[in-house]
Amino acid sequence: MERGHKLIEYRKVTKVYDSDIVAVKDANITIEDGEFVCFIGTSGSGKTTALRLVNRMHDPTEGEIFIDGENIQDYSPVNLRRKIGYAIQQTGLFPHMTVYENVVTVPRLLEWDEEKCRTTAEQLMERVDLPIELLDRYPSELSGGQQQRIGVIRALAANPGVVLMDEPFGALDPITRDALHDLVIELQEEYNNTFIFVTHDMDEALKLADRIAIWHEGEIIQYDTPENILSNPANDYVRSFIGQDRLFDAKTNNIKVREIMNENPLTITPGKTVSDALTIMHNKRVDTLFVVDDNNKLLGRVTIEFIANVDDQSKNIMDIIDREIRPLRADDLIQNKLREVLRRGRSNIPVVDKENILVGIITKTTLVNLTYNLIWDQDIAQEEILEEGLSE
Ligand code: ADP
Ligand code: MG
Repeated sequence: MERGHKLIEYRKVTKVYDSDIVAVKDANITIEDGEFVCFIGTSGSGKTTALRLVNRMHDPTEGEIFIDGENIQDYSPVNLRRKIGYAIQQTGLFPHMTVYENVVTVPRLLEWDEEKCRTTAEQLMERVDLPIELLDRYPSELSGGQQQRIGVIRALAANPGVVLMDEPFGALDPITRDALHDLVIELQEEYNNTFIFVTHDMDEALKLADRIAIWHEGEIIQYDTPENILSNPANDYVRSFIGQDRLFDAKTNNIKVREIMNENPLTITPGKTVSDALTIMHNKRVDTLFVVDDNNKLLGRVTIEFIANVDDQSKNIMDIIDREIRPLRADDLIQNKLREVLRRGRSNIPVVDKENILVGIITKTTLVNLTYNLIWDQDIAQEEILEEGLSE
């Protein structure tokens, strides 16, 4: 099996609890083999229910779920759960069993011989940086972080095709949690399992997921890659769920200098005099002209400050040219340049292509407006900036 192959499919799945609560409403979703999917949403949005429908801890009221093309109703729950690893927040470790017995629960169900069980458990302990001696302890003798690691490796012990995790790291401190994220990413890449991972934490979802399903009142509001969700939130609910900070980051992450620059910088050529430069500056009400050769290659700039100190206005502008210009490249990402440009404090920054041909100009006002507009209004930001022009 490989990526692109549909592994899990929810078809028009609805789950109504006895009490008439519609926990999942007409959900349609496909998950590909080897994909890491996060279900995210506020409390009560139906994530846990949707997850538990996959291993038949609950059955749908309407609709069907397929794994690898087979309706899961045709599997017995026991056989199904052998194919699926499961981990939850409270670790779900059996307190009366040793760590070892916990880890090899599913391998024993699958009737692996004892030697294989032991080797696997020891390898997994090493994999998650836990001493092998802990295998003979009881869960209550371990710290919270250690127990959660055991929860994770128990879910993975039999190398199941599908792994379900329900807010497994919710109760952990940020550092332990970060380490476990890295661990899960590594293990998933190594074993190539298909994951459904429930969380209410957007940062966790953005870090882990190939695709994110956003749940709201039992429905999937948006199902897409983290990049697309950030750049194209489906509606206000998704937008508020993601939060302005992340939207701003995502937006600036992807804007290139080319997209916000003004394309008509004012230029002057080497033969011209200081007097010519002054005339253009006066007429166009700008304080900077870029000096370019006949092929529009950028040579430098002349600014009003430099000109102010010249006695003889018939002087060639090449006598007062400032060559220290550090232009931006049209393909630079704004995100990487924003801080530097604002700090430099220059009002006008030339933009060149790969051949050092002058193609545009970024004004400080443009950048400041970009920043504010991104915060206040995602959509009109770019248009406004494009209309901004050279005026300062
Ligand atoms: P989440 O995991 O997103 O917090 P759940 O799937 O647990 O959401 O719950 C979805 C809705 O279904 C909630 O309104 C919840 O109260 C209800 N619910 C969950 N489990 C049961 C149950 N066993 N019996 C009745 N209602 C339930
Ligand atoms: Mg839940």
